[in-house]
Amino acid sequence: MAKRARELVAEGKPVISLALGQPDFASPPEALAGAVAEVEAGRTGYPPLAGQKALLEAVADKFRQENGLQVPLSRLMVANGGKQLIFNAFMATLNEGDEVIVPAPYWVSYPLIAGMFGGKPVIVPSREEDGFRPDPQKIRQAITSRTRWLVLNFPNNPTGAILERADLEALAEVLREAPHVMVMCDEIYEHLVFDGQQALSLLQVAPDLAERVLIVNGVSKAYAMTGWRVGFACGPEPLISAMLKVQGNATSGICTLAQGGAAAALRSGSAGIKKMCATYQRRRDQVVARLRQIPGLTCALPQGAFYAYPGLAALMGKTTPAGRKLQNDEDFAEALLEEAWLATVPGSAFGLGPHLRLSFAASDEDLQEGCERLANFVASLS
Ligand code: PLP
Repeated sequence: MAKRARELVAEGKPVISLALGQPDFASPPEALAGAVAEVEAGRTGYPPLAGQKALLEAVADKFRQENGLQVPLSRLMVANGGKQLIFNAFMATLNEGDEVIVPAPYWVSYPLIAGMFGGKPVIVPSREEDGFRPDPQKIRQAITSRTRWLVLNFPNNPTGAILERADLEALAEVLREAPHVMVMCDEIYEHLVFDGQQALSLLQVAPDLAERVLIVNGVSKAYAMTGWRVGFACGPEPLISAMLKVQGNATSGICTLAQGGAAAALRSGSAGIKKMCATYQRRRDQVVARLRQIPGLTCALPQGAFYAYPGLAALMGKTTPAGRKLQNDEDFAEALLEEAWLATVPGSAFGLGPHLRLSFAASDEDLQEGCERLANFVASLS
């Protein structure tokens, strides 16, 4: 979709993109100063593999202050974004045929990365009626002797769903019955939660699972630092040590300037995050209200992250003015781009359709115009 959108732009079409999961804010000034300080201090040699001490200490303080977790530095590491941590973890642990349970809808990279290492993604769909929260009973049924990982990503990309204490307690019960299963908690959207809610970490609810929980987090989304490529993880020492072996052979560690910037961002306090979050919440309210006015669309209220995930079931089978028959959400997203110049991502890419993911990490003008284009496109279907 992104490639086709770029081609249309090159042809001079006024394309609006609500397809990207990229904060539309500048990185904090503290991060810039932190990177400059690394240069000025001459810290430009190879970094320690797990991460610079100042950054690991900032991460440990973050886990203590924000998540109530006391974590020794030996359980921490940083990598080139949350994505590399997921890659390291799967490469370090998966053997051919090992199963990775991924509740759908999911961020596309989990099944793709697991598959690169012979892992078999086991997709467990959740339902819009349940607020896109996984049913613990279905997770229990999906666990086999080959299950290696359960992936939990809340606040969720693409739905914005968050898990409440009772959800986490129920999942913890299931996990206690299956001691061979490790849990990857991707908490990268942790800070982007709305309506005064708080995103809980599984370990806050079930500290007894600490020896098999890997928390993946990073500065990309909370601090608008996607290009810095800094993610951090907390996990059991044997796992971290195996992930570091992967890292040692892949990258020899993370750019020191980026680490200085990330440490400074983590130390910069929460005012910047709160401001961005308030903006996302205002946009969410506007976008969801508008989407709910469009006949044929359903739209659950995202509680976090920066995506809306409207359902398209009632529009399947319809035909566009250009004669395209909409059999699935890919047809819908393609036609929306080609005929109304609005770029989105079809829900089937996230394993649960027919839906559309719209990012509200975009300007107010683009969101308003994007929603109007979607409304007009739907109204034009026959
Ligand atoms: N996890 C989720 C759910 C994401 O949506 C993303 C990015 O889109 C990432 C992890 C990766 O983030 P990064 O590698 O920038 O830290």
